[in-house]
Amino acid sequence: MTDVAGVSQSTAGTLYVVATPIGNLDDMSARALKVLAGVALIAAEDTRHSVRLLQHFGIDTPLAACHEHNERDEGSRFITRLLAGDDVALVSDAGTPLISDPGYHLVRQARAAGVRVVPVPGACALIAALSAAGLPSDRFIFEGFLPAKTAGRRARLEQVKEEPRTLIFYEAPHRILECLQDMQAVFGDERPALLGRELTKAFETLKGLPLGELREFVAADPNQQRGECVVLVAGWTAPAGEQAVSSEALRVLDLLLAELPLKRAAALAAEITGVRKNILYQAALDKQKNH
Ligand code: SAM
Repeated sequence: MTDVAGVSQSTAGTLYVVATPIGNLDDMSARALKVLAGVALIAAEDTRHSVRLLQHFGIDTPLAACHEHNERDEGSRFITRLLAGDDVALVSDAGTPLISDPGYHLVRQARAAGVRVVPVPGACALIAALSAAGLPSDRFIFEGFLPAKTAGRRARLEQVKEEPRTLIFYEAPHRILECLQDMQAVFGDERPALLGRELTKAFETLKGLPLGELREFVAADPNQQRGECVVLVAGWTAPAGEQAVSSEALRVLDLLLAELPLKRAAALAAEITGVRKNILYQAALDKQKNH
């Protein structure tokens, strides 16, 4: 059988995207171990790091580097192996590859070459934190790492200030305090937030507090400024008595209303802004009444 890329799917190998633990080695799945032991080659973000993980589990599959600096150019090496029939596994240093980690270019190239790509799911810091945060989890957005400098960080935070979905950020420990300061300045003292630190490890912290208090908690304890961290911030909600739709959502709605029938404009605006359709529909009706 051949696919659109003319590749024989029965002879090409499979690229497995394999999640590894984010701290606690017991989080390695039985399937991940089976796949890593069974493939011809493991493409690893840092081979020295992954070799220790593999040794721990008694796996001696050969490793080759696949990191952000070589992934785009060297990807073809892995694709050649895959097309020749070898199975390859992709791993990063911790957690799920491609999630703030290398792998995107390799996965893209593999799919473009008609190679089957199979996820082997497991640990992921953002999902682990969200699952235990007690913040709304039905809809959320992952913002990855914020810019390192305050001006850039605040500018990015301003863009999501009125985002109604739960916000998730990765942050480096030496910037966690500045980051919380900027979040407090942009989102306000009272916005519910959570610091997920050293998840799955011995000194795990899951501290949920309003942003002002969370910043004070981290400032008062240098231990909270070490280790790996995820920050979750509750989405924006309209203060009681104020209109329930953000100014950005209303701006989008206005633009669409100028071009489209009311129902279609409200539906599209909902898709773009994440605000519920019926709320935007009501806002559009109110606008019509007032004109
Ligand atoms: N691919 C990984 C994943 O699936 O979560 C993320 C890799 S990214 C380079 C590393 C960042 O993830 C850290 O700086 C931190 O923000 C977050 N992270 C990774 N492990 C963590 C842990 N055990 N506890 C809290 N955050 C963690």
